Amino acid sequence: MAEYHPQELDRKWQAHWAKTRAFEVTEDPSKPKFYCLEMFAYPSGHAHVGHVRNYIIGDVVARLKRLQGFNVLHPFGWDAFGLPAENAAIKGGIHPETSTLGNIAHMKGQLQRLGISYAWERELATCLPDYYHWNQWLFTRMFEKGLAYRRRSTVNWCPVDNTVLANEQVIDDGVCWRCGTPVVQKDLEQWFFKITHYADDLLQAAEGLSKWPEKVLTMQRNWIGRSEGARVKFPIQGANDSIEVFTTRIDTIFGATFMMLAPEHGLVATFAKESEDEKAFLAKAQKFRAQDRAGRLTGEVEKEGFFTGRFAINPYTNLPIPIWVANYVLGEYGTGAVMGVAGHDERDFDFAHKYKLPIIPVIRPPHGEPPAEGTFYDTMPDDVLFNSGRFDGMKADQAIKMITEDAEERGIGHGTVQFRLKDWGISRQRYWGTPIPMIHCPVDGIVPVPDEQLPVVLPKVAEFTGRGDSPLASIPEFVNVKCPKCGGPARRETDTMDTFVDSSWYFYRFADAHNTKLPFDPKKVAYWAPVDFYSGGIEHAILHLIYSRFFSRVFHDLGMIDHKEPFTHLLTQGMVLKDGAVMSKSKGNVVDPDSMIEKFGSDALRLYVMFVAPPEKEVEWTDTGLEGSFRFLARVWRIADQWRDEASAASRTIIKHGELSGAERHLRRKTHDTIKRVTTDIDVRQQMNTAVSAMMELVNELYAFTEKGERSAQAAKVAREAIESLIVMLSPFAPHTMEELWQMYGNADGLGAALWPAFDADVAKAEELEIPVQVNGKLRAVVKVPPTIEDTELQKIALAEPNVQTHIAGKTPKKVVIVKGKLVSIVV
Ligand SMILES: [Zn+2]
Ligand SMILES: [Zn+2]
Repeated sequence: MAEYHPQELDRKWQAHWAKTRAFEVTEDPSKPKFYCLEMFAYPSGHAHVGHVRNYIIGDVVARLKRLQGFNVLHPFGWDAFGLPAENAAIKGGIHPETSTLGNIAHMKGQLQRLGISYAWERELATCLPDYYHWNQWLFTRMFEKGLAYRRRSTVNWCPVDNTVLANEQVIDDGVCWRCGTPVVQKDLEQWFFKITHYADDLLQAAEGLSKWPEKVLTMQRNWIGRSEGARVKFPIQGANDSIEVFTTRIDTIFGATFMMLAPEHGLVATFAKESEDEKAFLAKAQKFRAQDRAGRLTGEVEKEGFFTGRFAINPYTNLPIPIWVANYVLGEYGTGAVMGVAGHDERDFDFAHKYKLPIIPVIRPPHGEPPAEGTFYDTMPDDVLFNSGRFDGMKADQAIKMITEDAEERGIGHGTVQFRLKDWGISRQRYWGTPIPMIHCPVDGIVPVPDEQLPVVLPKVAEFTGRGDSPLASIPEFVNVKCPKCGGPARRETDTMDTFVDSSWYFYRFADAHNTKLPFDPKKVAYWAPVDFYSGGIEHAILHLIYSRFFSRVFHDLGMIDHKEPFTHLLTQGMVLKDGAVMSKSKGNVVDPDSMIEKFGSDALRLYVMFVAPPEKEVEWTDTGLEGSFRFLARVWRIADQWRDEASAASRTIIKHGELSGAERHLRRKTHDTIKRVTTDIDVRQQMNTAVSAMMELVNELYAFTEKGERSAQAAKVAREAIESLIVMLSPFAPHTMEELWQMYGNADGLGAALWPAFDADVAKAEELEIPVQVNGKLRAVVKVPPTIEDTELQKIALAEPNVQTHIAGKTPKKVVIVKGKLVSIVV
């Protein structure tokens, strides 16, 4: 008897797959394609079990699709630029390139030891020039089309270190992560991508993403945030200036009793300067800016504000209203200024209540009492205006139209569509990213680096101080260049790109990973794209998944791809918890896959992670669960081994289902029913856990069948069908063990040549029971019914039998006795 040593099988089959290039593919128009992709990894150092869950989900799908005859592209790569490596370099002195490449090597080994079926020959790392070359190429195309542009924008600035800080580098209520100095805001020229150009399209096309989780689509809709409304100018009292607000409810303008500025608003600095204590004023605004943005917006952060000492004039009531700075108004939304209508906006009501500002309702129900001053009234569609001068009595929706028109006539406002989505600021004053391929010439302005001079390679930097200018700005050989246009002295751009640029199109690069002429050959992408199955964390519901949809549109408009949506089917997997918390190094609750593989082999780990819960749900890690999966695989191994000689000698010729014994029929039915369930569970519902349960049931049936001791030629055929189907179906979960068993059963070509088992729907159907029907103790009929039948239904069928009808002879039965599964007895 062969013993089960999974670690040996891991090594044997991983070496075999590598040697035979088992998962490498090329375009093959004769086969249907399937592009299976998991979000690539940030090379943080060590992958823990929470990370690898996603890769195993993808691998189950990829392996299933191969067995179903698809030409499967399943690549992997590294999102290798980013701040953590640079921060580590500042703290520990290890160059980001050294640490990143080292981490990649380690994590690649981890994934390979799990036997994930990646086409490793297409591996890419975004920090290497052969990849970021094409970020630069694309940036230049976007610059030419006006989709990349420069404007002034604020950054976090440490006045002691004289350096720009990322949001993550601003800690503990707004101080520098290095020196603890309060962070200030500074205006700098920055690069932006014009994603707003596609705002409407991104929103509308989201309706067609039928295989995306609704939750993700909702988050995207909210992020894009389209709203129809109006912009209106409120003059500032005692100044030759005005504040423009955006509102969706201009019909409530007579109720605007105060004005709120975002702490980011440009006038905050002006008002501060004109105030009695500029420093204190700015400190208050800065405190709000340092608060969590999402929390400010949702109200998780308590609403706070302060009076600027200034007033604006409500252009409809002509009354002065106080101007406040409020933390729940965001600079990037609308105009960064909001009119406070406490009578009808709940958040404004809370704010006004807290700071004792006037609350004047202006909308009322068409009948009955109008809401009183100082109260909140939630408006309804049929409501009408009051306290609103000549618009009194007008329905609210009509008033929106009329007041907008009026504002337009007076030249103080206009109707507009507003998006919450803003252009994407991609400038980073940091080292470890793609250099922006632009040159600043005193004569010609901004000049792109010519294509033939790309890539602009990131120069080596010897020392990372975290102080002063961007590290690139301190390298004269990098900065000082000749202008490509006039040949005069010019200065190279020293900002690098946001790393989200790298991840916005990597899925196209995989289709043609080594192209040195273009980001990719459009023909190759036309074959492989879009991605058929994409999985990753819900934390990417916005940003990455919107930026990728944006880049697809850019490539589409460059004529390089024929579709606009990059991901057809999206799955967002749940996290793996240990001791009730998300795994993290700092909490010390990380489970390292390698130590689990050493104990139980990679297949047990893979199977456990899939069996423990549906992929999109959170799971709690337990070592006992992993052991259970190991025991199950050993059980599969033993039963396959027991049958090996007889079953592999048995022919696969068609089994005549009707001629089998009861036990054989039963096992065969279970086999076909299991194929049906597993196929649907993985392929249609992506419920890997129930697929595994179904296979566990089949294994139980196999043991029961074996214990019955049937060893005929027929029995061997039925066992072979069951065991070989099981091997193939389990192979996406436990590929190493199943390759070995498949070989043991005499299949020399390996699972690469195997096909997913087909099921016979008739065989898979539950067996029918034959139930005798007696009338007054005498057998009068036999009915065939499914075993799950209800008593009332069985009684109806029995009574409807012609021979039963004859013997009842029109009388009403006195009694009907049903013995479950055995007998129907009718007494007349
Ligand atoms: Zn500092
Ligand atoms: Zn020039």
